[in-house]
Amino acid sequence: TGSPATTTGPVTTTAPAPDDRPALRFGERALTYAELAAAAGATAAGVRGAGRVAVWATPSMETAVAVVGTLLAGVAAVPLNPKSGEKELAHILADSAPSLVLAAPGDPLPAALAGLTRVDVDVHATGPVPDDGDADDGDPALVVYTSGTTGPPKGAVLPRRSLSSTLDALADAWQWTGDDVLVHGLPLFHVHGLVLGTLGPLRRGGSVRHLGRFSAEGVARELTAGATMLFGVPTMYHRLAEALPGDPGLAEALAGARLLVSGSAALPVHDHERIAAATGRRVIERYGMTETLMNTSVRADGEARAGTVGVPLPGVELRLAEEDGSQVSAYDGETVGEIQVRGPNLFTEYLNRPEATAAAFTADGFFRTGDMAVRDPDGYVRIVGRKATDLIKSGGYKIGAGEIENALLEHPAVREAAVTGEPDADLGERIVAWVVPADPAAPPALAELADHVARRLAPHKRPRVLHHLDTLPRNDMGKIMKRALRHD
Ligand code: ATP
Ligand code: MG
Repeated sequence: TGSPATTTGPVTTTAPAPDDRPALRFGERALTYAELAAAAGATAAGVRGAGRVAVWATPSMETAVAVVGTLLAGVAAVPLNPKSGEKELAHILADSAPSLVLAAPGDPLPAALAGLTRVDVDVHATGPVPDDGDADDGDPALVVYTSGTTGPPKGAVLPRRSLSSTLDALADAWQWTGDDVLVHGLPLFHVHGLVLGTLGPLRRGGSVRHLGRFSAEGVARELTAGATMLFGVPTMYHRLAEALPGDPGLAEALAGARLLVSGSAALPVHDHERIAAATGRRVIERYGMTETLMNTSVRADGEARAGTVGVPLPGVELRLAEEDGSQVSAYDGETVGEIQVRGPNLFTEYLNRPEATAAAFTADGFFRTGDMAVRDPDGYVRIVGRKATDLIKSGGYKIGAGEIENALLEHPAVREAAVTGEPDADLGERIVAWVVPADPAAPPALAELADHVARRLAPHKRPRVLHHLDTLPRNDMGKIMKRALRHD
């Protein structure tokens, strides 16, 4: 008779939802809490004791049931990106060595998975719901591979404690209730779409409507039909910002939402402001990563500010470190340091990479995020960019790519922009702009863009080199793959 609402693991709700309430909907398919519990219970029975289990993580009900089932069984799930190439899959399978793969009945699996026992997920099955109350907080719940933005994906081992602490922190900050309905169109093989988007609303008895594929029409339809929250990545908000001027229905739908949340990459200020102007609503940015789950955000009743990711969530210790390891004490909006975090939200290790794991932590247990930021006087964190790719050392200055990208995006001839550095005999590094023109027939000239940036920011922040592109290289989460931006 149980449901996820009455167990104590990461999928539980603190305010138990009645069993007949909706839990998940994917297109026409829906499960109540009782049905989800029964189906996940049946899956749990089939994987108990299996060690690590791969999940063929299509955006489907089967994926959601598979992951809730593995959590109930106390085994670790390894979500696989169904769009991965054979080589990427082979890497992840060799690294994580799952004992079987959970998949939707009838879904074709690629050859790389041929050696694994396949277990079909039946979302209409009914099994007794196991009590996962004995599972240890430190037991692995998920092994999630990082997005591979800066190098080959690493398997982050996330204990049950990381999931429950992050979800509780967000549920409190964003004041989730059983009346919340989330609309999302994110993939289910990263923490954003899986932990936040799928398990998140269930924590307080709310429900999830997955769009399958993101579209502005889908968002408008679900919000108009009563959904209260939207989670997305910046490319989705960019598409909404582009659609808004000609779509008063969309503006009204977004204006009626309780929470619009963006994460996984920086939301361009230009898109934030366009959405605010058209809907009166400010998108809340949150900052997190596979290894730490959520670090910062703004409370639902707080003030979301363009270009910032809010403040550390309760329980998360966040500091900025200088290159020599000393701490940045200034809250001056200027002094850049690497974000380091500590708290119950953290992963335990990179699978099979003891050296990478050791290198990732400081002696006192803070995780080195590799992200650079400044803090405003009132504690808001502004991410400047990644240490490896977004911090340009030019003419004695440390310049963040993000603010130049934001400035370029305000130019009417620019649709998309990325900024990198390249070696320069005189400056150390020079600033390179990669621009997708708004009108391919009339691409903006370097001098024009350089002046535009120099006027808005400072002369030393102007790009010295300009490349025009048809599109920017992006991964499944819409993140710009800067290591693919090479001109040769
Ligand atoms: P890899 O670690 O394999 O190179 P990745 O870092 O992109 O890939 P994820 O863990 O999915 O993999 O992404 C986390 C990163 O995304 C953060 O470290 C940060 O650089 C970026 N990020 C997340 N949210 C935000 C945000 N709101 N603003 C700016 N950057 C963000
Ligand atoms: Mg990373």
